[in-house]
Amino acid sequence: MVRISVDPDECRGYGQCCYEAPDLFRLDDPPVTHPAEVDESRREDAERAADSCPMQAIAIE
Ligand code: SF4
Repeated sequence: MVRISVDPDECRGYGQCCYEAPDLFRLDDPPVTHPAEVDESRREDAERAADSCPMQAIAIE
């Protein structure tokens, strides 16, 4: 499994992650919601979204 976390102190709600992987990240309150874990097959999508974040607020493990 791939673990996704977003640092709420760093996230500014810009939404690039939601644009890159709309089924993994959603603008909400807190600014972005996401599944805590996804299947390994989604790693590339999650990493692309993390790379798009201007605040580097997304961690993928
Ligand atoms: S791209 Fe980064 S700053 Fe923007 S909503 Fe996603 S996690 Fe937050």
